[in-house]
Amino acid sequence: MATNRTFTMLKPDATGAGNTGKIIDRMIEAGFSIKAMKWTQLSKAHAEAFYAVHSERPFYGELVEYMTSGPIVAMILEKDDAVASFRDLIGATNPAEAAPGTIRADFAESISANAVHGSDSDENAQIEGRFYFSECEEA
Ligand code: UDP
Ligand code: MG
Repeated sequence: MATNRTFTMLKPDATGAGNTGKIIDRMIEAGFSIKAMKWTQLSKAHAEAFYAVHSERPFYGELVEYMTSGPIVAMILEKDDAVASFRDLIGATNPAEAAPGTIRADFAESISANAVHGSDSDENAQIEGRFYFSECEEA
């Protein structure tokens, strides 16, 4: 995956609240193009693996339980400077601290159920994209 790509998931609070289309629209309006997309649900083992980097943090168990509680939408997105630009679009992890107009400010329920995931580096965007999509599933 090229460095102008990032990886996102719409989390179970977003899909459950019927916000999938509205959030994807925000991403497209912000200039991201969709290179791969999948509606699916994480197993406990898959959620533990995806968030393995957080395994020592106190919220890990709750995070895994939450991320397996409903459907998610996994996507690879493309734009110049995709990782940083997408983090700007989604806002801070805690919606109470997210800037007005960001996706998390407008759609997140809590610091845990915060509507969307966004990769934090080009390296992790590549790893996370490959977690869900093989090379031939990526446009
Ligand atoms: N999270 C949580 N409690 C916290 C911090 C994070 O439940 O105190 C969850 C939240 O869903 C967050 C995810 O763990 O999106 C990963 O945390 P990270 O610090 O990587 O935040 P992000 O990169 O998603 O903004
Ligand atoms: Mg993160």
